[in-house]
Amino acid sequence: MRCSFDDIALFRGLRRATGSVMLNIALFGPPGAGKGTQSAALVKRFNLCYISTGDLLRQELAEGSKLGTDAREIIASGGLVSDEIIVQILEKTIAANPTANGFLFDGFPRTAIQAYILEGLMTKLNTSLDCLINLEVPVEESLRRLIERGKSSGRSDDNETVIRNRLKEYHDKTLPVLDFYEQKGVRVDVDGTQDIETVRDEIEKIARTQYSKRPVGVVVFGYPGSGRGSQAKALAKEFGLEFVATGRMLEEEMAADTGVGRKVRALYESGQLVPDEIVIPLIERRLENSEGVRGFIFKGVPRTLVQSYILDGLMKKHDCPISKVLEIEVPMLQLVERLDQRSRTKRCMPYDNGTDKIVRRLRDHEVKTIPVIEKYEQVHGVTKIDGTGSFEQVFAVCAREVSSLFQVGGRL
Ligand code: AMP
Repeated sequence: MRCSFDDIALFRGLRRATGSVMLNIALFGPPGAGKGTQSAALVKRFNLCYISTGDLLRQELAEGSKLGTDAREIIASGGLVSDEIIVQILEKTIAANPTANGFLFDGFPRTAIQAYILEGLMTKLNTSLDCLINLEVPVEESLRRLIERGKSSGRSDDNETVIRNRLKEYHDKTLPVLDFYEQKGVRVDVDGTQDIETVRDEIEKIARTQYSKRPVGVVVFGYPGSGRGSQAKALAKEFGLEFVATGRMLEEEMAADTGVGRKVRALYESGQLVPDEIVIPLIERRLENSEGVRGFIFKGVPRTLVQSYILDGLMKKHDCPISKVLEIEVPMLQLVERLDQRSRTKRCMPYDNGTDKIVRRLRDHEVKTIPVIEKYEQVHGVTKIDGTGSFEQVFAVCAREVSSLFQVGGRL
């Protein structure tokens, strides 16, 4: 059976949002620290959605909107616009970019309340701020730079009186925000008085480190006998990922002779799939007990469309999208040969000790799991791996695919 989807476009639209790992950064520092200049390179490098509250306010002003009109005077005096106005313009921009790979905030958060607003906005997107990069520039240097910029920027707030007020606002209301991020452990300081290129390189290095810290989700598909289990296990070891193999978790339940284990044994012996009511809570428990891991590699799950929807939700909850899907392909005849051989060795599993069970498992994959792979093809993209070579040959190809996730741009 092949599954058809009426609205493939919907899945395509979701592809970037579900397949990539978000990177969220805030550039912090006094007016004139170089936040705008540095943002441009960072946005390009990591394909981020740039949000400068200052730019957004200037846009509202230019359009003569109600928000812009309300903010006009305060901007002209160098004061901080109210948090109510800021939250509205932010929400609008974030909502307009649902598939962003991440956000770069420039000039936000500028008050303690805005720090909480940012938390709320990130939580709503099931993500968080990875780091706040603090560009350190002394007041006299900011003043000098802004006066210089005022000669050509055309910004009405780049004149000395207003600049002094902006710097005072920064000192009184914005600087204390640093403590909030210090406590969260996401503040990183950069000497903003260095030349532009040096600052840019330092910022990029910080962003790259953050990026590689984000957990990844890898799913390995393949028919029984394709080698998906041994490959996934070896990949988990190689890349330090949590190996989530439902078969193995079920075996642990059986070994411990739990209530779940006894039910599973009966199903295994008849070669049937274990129902979702049993499998899903085990996966959920596993994800919950794996805080701070580099990522997960799934084998044997999702096996059905229902499981795929549940897994997508669980992964989203853990801010760990499915970033790579591999399908190990082996011709049917070879699969049957491999499974038959295995059934005569010590590695024989209770579910493959007879032709009827082997056939049933192959058919289950065909009927229930192939539609999942087709859905994943639309949503995340599936990398097909030729599984007919030696273990080492297949592993080399799989490992190349997984390692690309840890390079900058590999998940974008
Ligand atoms: P900027 O371009 O970031 O220097 O911002 C220019 C002006 O816009 C500031 O002096 C403030 O009046 C206003 N503004 C920009 N961002 C914020 C913010 N997050 N909170 C309050 N006011 C802001």
